[in-house]
Amino acid sequence: MANVSLKHIYKVYPNGTKAVNDFNMDIADKEFIVFVGPSGCGKSTTLRMIAGLEDISAGELKIGDTVVNDMEPKDRDIAMVFQNYALYPHMTVYENIAFGLRLRKLPKDEIHNKVVEAAEILGITEYLNKKPKEMSGGQRQRVALGRAIVREPKVMLLDEPLSNLDAKLRTQMRAEISKLYKKLGTTFIYVTHDQVEAMTMGTRIVVMKNGYVQQIDTPKNLYNYPANKFVAGFIGTPQMSFFEGTLKKDGEFVIIKFDRSNAEIKAPYSMLYKAKPSILDGKTKVYIGLRAEDISVVDNAGKDCAVIDVVVSHKEELGSETLIYGELCGGEEGAGESRIIIKDDGGREINAGDVVKVALDIGKVHLFDKETERSVMPRIPEYNYLDCQVKDGKLIFHNASFDLPSAVKCVDAKGELLLPLNAVTLDGELKAEVLSCEYINGVYLLSMSINGNRLFALSREKVESSTVNIGIDFKKITVIADGEKVIQPIPEVNSFDCSFIKRKTRRSIEQNGKVKNKKMIEFGFLTEDVFFAASDEAAQKIFSALGVKKAVTSQFKMECGIYDISVSDSGIPACVNRILDYGKDIFLKCAVGENTVYVKTDKEYVGDIFLAPDMDKIGIAESERDIKII
Ligand code: ADP
Repeated sequence: MANVSLKHIYKVYPNGTKAVNDFNMDIADKEFIVFVGPSGCGKSTTLRMIAGLEDISAGELKIGDTVVNDMEPKDRDIAMVFQNYALYPHMTVYENIAFGLRLRKLPKDEIHNKVVEAAEILGITEYLNKKPKEMSGGQRQRVALGRAIVREPKVMLLDEPLSNLDAKLRTQMRAEISKLYKKLGTTFIYVTHDQVEAMTMGTRIVVMKNGYVQQIDTPKNLYNYPANKFVAGFIGTPQMSFFEGTLKKDGEFVIIKFDRSNAEIKAPYSMLYKAKPSILDGKTKVYIGLRAEDISVVDNAGKDCAVIDVVVSHKEELGSETLIYGELCGGEEGAGESRIIIKDDGGREINAGDVVKVALDIGKVHLFDKETERSVMPRIPEYNYLDCQVKDGKLIFHNASFDLPSAVKCVDAKGELLLPLNAVTLDGELKAEVLSCEYINGVYLLSMSINGNRLFALSREKVESSTVNIGIDFKKITVIADGEKVIQPIPEVNSFDCSFIKRKTRRSIEQNGKVKNKKMIEFGFLTEDVFFAASDEAAQKIFSALGVKKAVTSQFKMECGIYDISVSDSGIPACVNRILDYGKDIFLKCAVGENTVYVKTDKEYVGDIFLAPDMDKIGIAESERDIKII
């Protein structure tokens, strides 16, 4: 039993294919995690890196509390089940299951007991003396599972184990693997391209595309709250229908207009209160997504019903229900996708060519930005988008006024405030009424009211009180007036170009009671001609990501947080351009070569200074392939 942690995991194959990019996930002990996505999205590569069958290009992989990047597969306490079973054809089932245990030189009795127990769990006791070729695909896969079980691994890895089985057997084995998982109480990581398998088996699912994680969530949340159009289309059968259109706010409603239909549909604004307001301008293009079960054929347009006309192209009779495929009619010709799939109870006679009236369950609509394809109704919004005014050194929004610290004082202006949720602190002066406190994937989304206007914030803890005091972290805000950013946030991370070098040095070492001055070789990072020694661990990570030769010829970016670099007696030469006083915090805005660097300070320095990053907290990214190594 073990948790598995993947931090900034990358895989770049020798031919340059970036199969996995910045994979981050904490898998808890006893979870059943499914990696799902279309062929080539990087799911097997990720699993094989966990198994140790594939080198990790960069990042840190932990099983339990141990970093296992360089550990042999056999020492990782994992067991893997493959699509092709990988059984030894000349051995009996018994011998196949016992094989690994024999290699580990376990006593005969113990091996026997384990094999018999595993065979019982899997219902293959009567086949123990048979050879794999005498068994069906399903039975062979059970043997492969048996071989994995007897190892009593901390983590079970399964790579498309059911792909070679026919549909009926697959459904049966799916249930059996789920049962086995419950019985064993072990962490399972399961790879499949089949979203039904993922949805029915996983406690959480990782949806991948082109080497990037798209969303990690429970099956229910993926279905109800897909983060982008890809996830929405990939999860659920039949596939979600998508149309292009626009959204326009109209009082307490939003009018959804389809490009390929003359219909206009009114949705309550309460559905879209987390959306970026500019998307509700009636011009910005969005994708409107609806699942087949949320669309139905109706005889008459009800009064408040969202109804559109559809030309039927064909249908699929599934017995208890019928899937009707059609095209939206009316509207602009050729304006994007128009295919619609409808689930009907099959009670009426519908034929190809018919024009039918179709009702849409607007409460179930999904909306995606056409440019980014990200949901415009996210569970956690990225920003509070607020009308604001800067006047006499004060920032005014929602009829509330905040004194601007000197760091962000600017000329009087009217415009839009982009206030990230983590810039709303719960320790300020202004009272806000708590409207709701919603738990979403590890954090609480606070929805509050200030003078009747909504404001979002995040909290690590549940907020039970009806009011909270809020403040603003002015380092994080943006104010846009007349298309110009009159107030800008400071970046949270500074970035320097650097190289990784080897140098000779002398160090005093005590040996047999005598202090000796010894020649040594040390590795470190060179930025702006200043050397910073790398820890052994950091150097090791660079070598294992690149090899010794490439490590010293590659270009890197050293990244350090604005709190993780300080003024020092020696270090990177910098020139202070400005002192930024945010009230609670003071920062120096410095020029380092061509770059601007921000540094937290307690004193107000002027002119030339030296900066020293905290080497335990820096990040290192390789520039050429853009992969994070530390
Ligand atoms: P999936 O399991 O999602 O189908 P894989 O992890 O097998 O995808 O592959 C991810 C990407 O890496 C694909 O583009 C594939 O072609 C590529 N790839 C896989 N194995 C290798 C390899 N040994 N050498 C080069 N490229 C590879």
